[in-house]
Amino acid sequence: MSADRKVGPHHDGQHRIVVLGAGYAGLAAARRLARTARDAHITVVDARASFIERVRLHQ
Ligand SMILES: Cc1cc2nc3c(=O)[nH]c(=O)nc-3n(C[C@H](O)[C@H](O)[C@H](O)COP(=O)(O)OP(=O)(O)OC[C@H]3O[C@@H](n4cnc5c(N)ncnc54)[C@H](O)[C@@H]3O)c2cc1C
Repeated sequence: MSADRKVGPHHDGQHRIVVLGAGYAGLAAARRLARTARDAHITVVDARASFIERVRLHQ
């Protein structure tokens, strides 16, 4: 596979982006991409079905 095929759009012209991990970083990246790459198809994948809000969880 050539480098162009790895980073280029899908054959239908749409970029397909997978964000692995739906923690703070993954969700922030997905939200930013949704705003800036409007024609892209974005999929967020996480090992868990729900997000645990961990900030100050230990308090
Ligand atoms: C108890 C506790 C309290 C905290 N309190 C604070 C606080 O008060 N203030 C503060 O600033 N920070 C706090 N932190 C730290 C803060 O939670 C982390 O800095 C922050 O969660 C890191 O965000 P992240 O997106 O990098 O990773 P994470 O939030 O860990 O997200 C990573 C995600 O990737 C997913 N994932 C991992 N491996 C895979 C895989 N192979 N396939 C699919 N999905 C995968 C995980 O399920 C997870 O949802 C606390 C942490 C803990 C544990």
